Amino acid sequence: MPAQTAPVDPYALTREGLEELVAELGEPRYRADQVHGWLVRGVDDPDEMTDLPKEFRATLGERFAPARPELVAHQVADDGHTHKLLLRFPDGEAIETVLMLYPRRATVCISTQAGCALGCPFCATGQAGFRRQLTAGEVVRQVVVADAALRSGVIDEQALPDGAPDHVTNVVYMGMGEPLANLPVTLASVRWLHDPEGFNLSARSITVSTVGLVPGIRRLAELGLPVTLAVSLHAATDDLRDELVPINVTHPLAELEEAVRDYRRTTNRRVSIEWCLIGDVNDDDRQADALARIARRLRAHVNIIPMNPTPGVRWKEPSATRTRAFVERVGNRGVEVTLRDTRGRDADAACGQLLASYTLGAGTRLPAAVGAADRVTEFAAASGSTESTEGDEVAG
Ligand code: SAH
Ligand code: SF4
Repeated sequence: MPAQTAPVDPYALTREGLEELVAELGEPRYRADQVHGWLVRGVDDPDEMTDLPKEFRATLGERFAPARPELVAHQVADDGHTHKLLLRFPDGEAIETVLMLYPRRATVCISTQAGCALGCPFCATGQAGFRRQLTAGEVVRQVVVADAALRSGVIDEQALPDGAPDHVTNVVYMGMGEPLANLPVTLASVRWLHDPEGFNLSARSITVSTVGLVPGIRRLAELGLPVTLAVSLHAATDDLRDELVPINVTHPLAELEEAVRDYRRTTNRRVSIEWCLIGDVNDDDRQADALARIARRLRAHVNIIPMNPTPGVRWKEPSATRTRAFVERVGNRGVEVTLRDTRGRDADAACGQLLASYTLGAGTRLPAAVGAADRVTEFAAASGSTESTEGDEVAG
């Protein structure tokens, strides 16, 4: 093998790619199965792949370049039910991952891009602009890290809700970035997370949130895995949506609605509509009625999320009266609607806003793998040495 061959992120390899690599390294095909078996369990350090021969582990170690982040901030909110992790990759880019704990659910909200190019004017990630795409490894790794935190008991058991699982059960692509603007990586990471030999998440427990990239919605439908689609609508008329969600100029509402309807038909999955409610901007009766019409046509569930005030954003959250009136009006028009609280653990519809509120501190390395018992202390040390703040700040 030529010495100049570039190292490869193991989670960026397809199964065929892995088999080719194993063949190139002169090993029998079943080694690819062994390596795959470790990867789907979150282990990407060949040193830990204990059923491989020592020399092969060393060769693989030279070829693999796993995307291991450092934990630079760990914020605990909502009585220990929400854990917000700020992770920094070796090139210095930082992203946010949020773990939310419920009685029968442990949901991780993951990022797909450092920053976002789509510039929605109410969104903190959008204000920061686009930094770079995350790799499939960096996306999967966020689930690995959250899972490791849960399994290793780092999270205070006293604080866990009764019946909280000890592993990740749900993943939402609602962190930083637009998943469908990093489509190959989003699709690859969904496949990894779904793999029955590993993370084994059912398609319905994976939610991909999009601001409405129509070609991406169509490609997601072709994946053949009925993942839950969440569409960040925020405005139900083109005039307003052009302003709140600039990509609407390229893919206006009618086109988006058609793609979402097709997604529902192809996958047989109910779609949800996310609506960030902004005071005096999209909280009026006209928008409520237009939203209800779209939601009814799509048979979609609507989640209303009062806007989080964000530094540099001139808009504000709506009044409680306006919020109640808006939710009731949509509900009275025959739509299933939920009011979500952006504070604390109800925040799974609105992550992605964490980075702006942090000053990056010196980081510590996170454990590499899920469930590795000998890593417990290491993770505890990593978490303990970073700033932890209590409070009910917004998770989204
Ligand atoms: N780019 C995708 C995935 C990120 S999800 C998308 O936009 O759907 C991030 C979620 O947080 C979106 O539903 C977004 O509308 C919401 N959000 C962004 N800024 C917010 C704010 N200031 N307050 C509340 N929710 C916000
Ligand atoms: Fe990007 Fe979504 Fe924020 Fe819009 S709301 S800027 S698409 S992350």
